[in-house]
Amino acid sequence: MSNLIPSPDVSVSIPPSSAGPAIEAFPSRKAEVGVLSVRRALPVRQRRTIGPWCFFDHFGPIEFIDGKPMDVAPHPHIGLQTVSWLFEGEVLHRDSLGSEALLHPGELNLMTAGAGIAHAEETPLEHSTKLHGVQLWIALPETHRRTTPLFAHHTDILANEIPGGRVTVIMGQVDGVHSPAKAFSTLIAFELVVNKSEKVHVPLDRSFEHGMVVVAGQADLEGQSLDPDTLYYLGVDRDELSLTSRGGARVMVVGGAPFGESIVMWWNFVARTNQEIQQAREDWAQHRRFCDVSAYRGPRLEAPPLEFRPKSG
Ligand code: MN
Repeated sequence: MSNLIPSPDVSVSIPPSSAGPAIEAFPSRKAEVGVLSVRRALPVRQRRTIGPWCFFDHFGPIEFIDGKPMDVAPHPHIGLQTVSWLFEGEVLHRDSLGSEALLHPGELNLMTAGAGIAHAEETPLEHSTKLHGVQLWIALPETHRRTTPLFAHHTDILANEIPGGRVTVIMGQVDGVHSPAKAFSTLIAFELVVNKSEKVHVPLDRSFEHGMVVVAGQADLEGQSLDPDTLYYLGVDRDELSLTSRGGARVMVVGGAPFGESIVMWWNFVARTNQEIQQAREDWAQHRRFCDVSAYRGPRLEAPPLEFRPKSG
């Protein structure tokens, strides 16, 4: 996925985590990634990160016959991990390391950009005519943000039946069930299915802040009906997440230890200074640092003009 429309707010200051549990609602905004319409839940101005999570795009569900609803030409990333997760359909990932992976629902594509990587993501030629999923970004901590780029395709992600629903641990661990995916800070991401007319309880780490988005169906949290495609920031100091659903729901939950580092996020880069962003942009333009995604047929994405605007707060 590529953040094709750069945020006008370039510098990102980390807001303090809430002092305790909270329920803050932030409706997603619409964005276009090539021809694909997405709902962007994170970042929002008031809440730039949740743990190390700094980006949350939700696309679909759509049905199509012709063409490629997802066709994101080669583009670079630094300083982050991308988490690609599908509910329906297929996405073909190819990157500058030579990785190629066809992603299906229940599998995880985890790309660690670190010092720099380029990738392309597209609907494969043979497909199920459906597409529904999310792409999330994790800001890498200072200690690992220049790490060697990596790509992993996980087919061993566990879905666990629980009373009232199902938890799939994408990153981190829930109730002793661990994801095999490599993280560089303490974090969590899971998909939660709440069955029709049921209630689920999922234990949480009290030291984490959490956020959630209803991606399908309808759910209630603490007597409050949750809107779809709205980021709910849940704060810290929660022992568990309890959700009910009348008609059934699918929810994405992310969290982690409050990140505690100020980041600069522009286009597809996560860094610490404007200079680093400028350098990465220049390196992409000059064909330095980032190798080609040679398997992709077609031109790559060019970075938009860079215009830093001073930002307070
Ligand atoms: Mn991308």
